[in-house]
Amino acid sequence: MTETKKIAVISGDGIGPEVVAEAEKIIKRTEEVFGLSFTTEHALFGGIAIDQKGTPLPEETLKVCKSADAVLLGAVGGPQWDNNPKELRPETGLLGIRKELGLFSNLRPAVIFDCLKDASTLKPEVLEGTDLMVVRELTGGIYFGEKFRREGANGEEAVDTCVYNVTEVERIVRQAFEIAQKRRKKLASVDKANVLETSRLWRETVNRIAPEYPDVELEHVLVDNCAMQLLRRPASFDVIVTENMFGDILSDEAAMLTGSIGMLASASMGEGSYGLYEPVHGSAPDIAGQGLANPIATILSVALMYRLTFGYAEAADAIERAVAEVLDAGHRTADIASNKSSALSTTQMGDLIAEAIRK
Ligand code: NAD
Repeated sequence: MTETKKIAVISGDGIGPEVVAEAEKIIKRTEEVFGLSFTTEHALFGGIAIDQKGTPLPEETLKVCKSADAVLLGAVGGPQWDNNPKELRPETGLLGIRKELGLFSNLRPAVIFDCLKDASTLKPEVLEGTDLMVVRELTGGIYFGEKFRREGANGEEAVDTCVYNVTEVERIVRQAFEIAQKRRKKLASVDKANVLETSRLWRETVNRIAPEYPDVELEHVLVDNCAMQLLRRPASFDVIVTENMFGDILSDEAAMLTGSIGMLASASMGEGSYGLYEPVHGSAPDIAGQGLANPIATILSVALMYRLTFGYAEAADAIERAVAEVLDAGHRTADIASNKSSALSTTQMGDLIAEAIRK
């Protein structure tokens, strides 16, 4: 008998509830096909939580998330909350939930589906075989260092400091090596060690840890070179690990390789196997409530959850295969369709993928 796992489900705002409903359909289907067992508990977060509870991240929501094995999140935000004070903005809840759940890395896979190669701005032959994962440090670096203004010799100056300690580098680098071990066993560590002291500490730490993972082939890549190589030879990368700001930029660049924001899954991981899984896209208020949203990013986030938190590789593979099969058969939501008039709705796409899941 399979152990029952608990998933905290946060639909959020805009298209969040629409895409999460399709992901829940997929979870149900994998229970039937693979004999898995889940309980799901829904919680309020983001704009809807501001409206109903007066805060973007209610205590009750944190409790639900902390008592679960993993969190599935749709998206938060929308124009109606944009002019709120900082503590009453949905994005403030996003920073808060990461901190409260101890999430220190962000994982973004970029996989090219053969039939969508033409949706990218890169040539299909360059993209051929691209399947990479960017592992970005989330809690340190220049975004969190001391910031201030001062009077300098030539007028006002602004200072941002970049700080990393060995413990922060070690935990993310170990995680990246472990992820690489479960994939094609290649790790690119990205830094700017020719210029930055934090990068030199980063590289030293990577080199010290590397012998513990002899099966993983390691390369060091300078961040400027990595930005170029992602466009020149994306298929040669497997796992890329890097600090916060470099990761912010490179993960967006890698995302564009695939051509559609509606297809990109992500995970934010803490210690052990705990993780929060969400599509890369936002709440898309422009198409909310119209059944136009592409649910694939959220569905692929479930596959990521199965693989990284639960170790259900077979079910994860089956979800990814089902997505590929449905796309190969020519089915498209409006965002990826060349003929918009024959595009599927959010629920039609979810139904087709659920049906295509089999052992
Ligand atoms: P967005 O990702 O919501 O939308 C950008 C464009 O992509 C829009 O045209 C939208 O219609 C389209 N799009 C996005 N997801 C899609 C999908 N699944 N299917 C089809 N089309 C899709 O980004 P934005 O417009 O900059 O932000 C809208 C709101 O979302 C803002 O309030 C922002 O703060 C919030 N946001 C939240 C998150 C999050 O919850 N993690 C992330 C990014 C943005």
